[in-house]
Parts: sequence; C-alpha cells; structure tokens
Amino acid sequence: MKIIPVPAFEDNYIWLISDGRYAAAVDPGDAEPVLDYLGRHGLRLAAILNTHHHRDHTGGNAALLRHGKVPVFGPRGENISTVTHPVGEGDAVQLPELGAAFKVIDVPGHTAGHVAYYGANSLFCGDALFACGCGKLFEGTPAQMFVSLGKFAALPDDTRVYCAHEYTLENILFAKLVEPGNLALQERETHDLQTREQGLPTLPSTIALEKATNPFLRWDKPGVIDAAETFAKRSLADPVSVFAAIREFRNTF
Ligand code: ZN
Ligand code: FE
Repeated sequence: MKIIPVPAFEDNYIWLISDGRYAAAVDPGDAEPVLDYLGRHGLRLAAILNTHHHRDHTGGNAALLRHGKVPVFGPRGENISTVTHPVGEGDAVQLPELGAAFKVIDVPGHTAGHVAYYGANSLFCGDALFACGCGKLFEGTPAQMFVSLGKFAALPDDTRVYCAHEYTLENILFAKLVEPGNLALQERETHDLQTREQGLPTLPSTIALEKATNPFLRWDKPGVIDAAETFAKRSLADPVSVFAAIREFRNTF
C-alpha cells in the first residue's frame, strides 16, 4: 500500500491510498489535482473519505463522482451532501478494492463531527491534529479537543500521521516559544527545514514524534504548564485548562 500526497490549494494535502491499481482519496478539496494524478498513473478511484465538512476537504467530491460513482465516507454528525456512508466512532470503513480497512475515531473540536480514519498503521486526522500543532476550535470546546487529542496519543508510537495541511514549520516556531529547551523539537526543526528546502512534505509524522514535540500533546510537561500559566497569568489546576491556554496562546501567535 502506497500513500501519496497530492498538494492542493496553498498548503493542503489530499492523501491517496493506493495499491497501484485503485486509490482512495482522503479529503479531496479539489478534484483536478486528484484526477490529474489518477490519470497519469492509470489508477481508478475506489472511494472518498472525508474527515469534516470544510470546503478545502470536501469541495472536490462532486466533480470526482461525475467521473464514476464510488462510496463517500464522512462524519455522521455533519452535513456533507455527497456522503453516501455516514460513519462514527468504532465504525469500520472497508475498501475491498484495496484490501484495506480503517477504523473511525470521533475527534470533535475543530468541527463538531470531525472524524479520523485509522488503519494500516496510518492515521488520517484531517484538521484535528497537525505536525507540532492542532486544529483551531471552530465548533468545539477545549475539553472536547483535549479528549480527541488523547485518542491520538493512545495510538501506537509508530503510527504514521497524515495531516491535511503543511503547517509544520510555523507550528514548530510556536512550539519553540512554549518549550525552548526541548531538544527533540530543535532536532525536528533542523530536519524539517531541510525537507522543505527540498520542496518535500514534512509528513507523515509519527505519534512518537508528536508526543515528543507537539505542545498540544504535552500538557503534562512542566515546561508546557509553565508557559500556559505565564500566558494565562494564573495557575492552572487541570490539564484541560493547560491545553486551553496553549490553544489560546497559539491563536495570538
Ligand atoms: Zn478544516
Ligand atoms: Fe483544512
């Protein structure tokens, strides 16, 4: 199984899951680059997986479906007109053409019904988790997002993390402000700067790397708690408050 990034818009990645004959498209915000890639590589579309309703993740559904009907999996709790298979926590997404299956995880916070897809040692997390960051809380509460991110942190360390945007370098700048002494973070910056200089995606990440460098998964670390309390100008008694303060801090960055 190959997982291929198809760049779209400014900084989106549409991920194609492919066995060399078929491909499933995750969050095709734009049909054209997907059709272009499929055409050039002789691949047939087998399915569409949407993580949430935002246009930059669903805008290409209709045009892709005009080239052939395929199942469209998407969050049960959101209104995406092209979704044929609404899914939620614990559901299995079967992709028989690819011989693959993914488990659905509810991860509200960025949007109210946001889902992620986990399988084949890979996580497609849309705009819930970013490399060294997390999505803005447009429709959810800090407490909801805290639980969602906890579900990601509980996945195996070697899980490959396929986020929907190339935000890594900007996120690292903020993470360094929170944890200037984090060596894993400094190493990551050196590595990812080189990757971007070569014009390559910094993704996939891994759960282990996120746990070592992502401030939104490190609410229990003294340095992160300090930074959160300094920003909030008060002591923060519980992890959700620490997370909420770091998220607020990020919004001002
Ligand atoms: Zn979004
Ligand atoms: Fe997005």
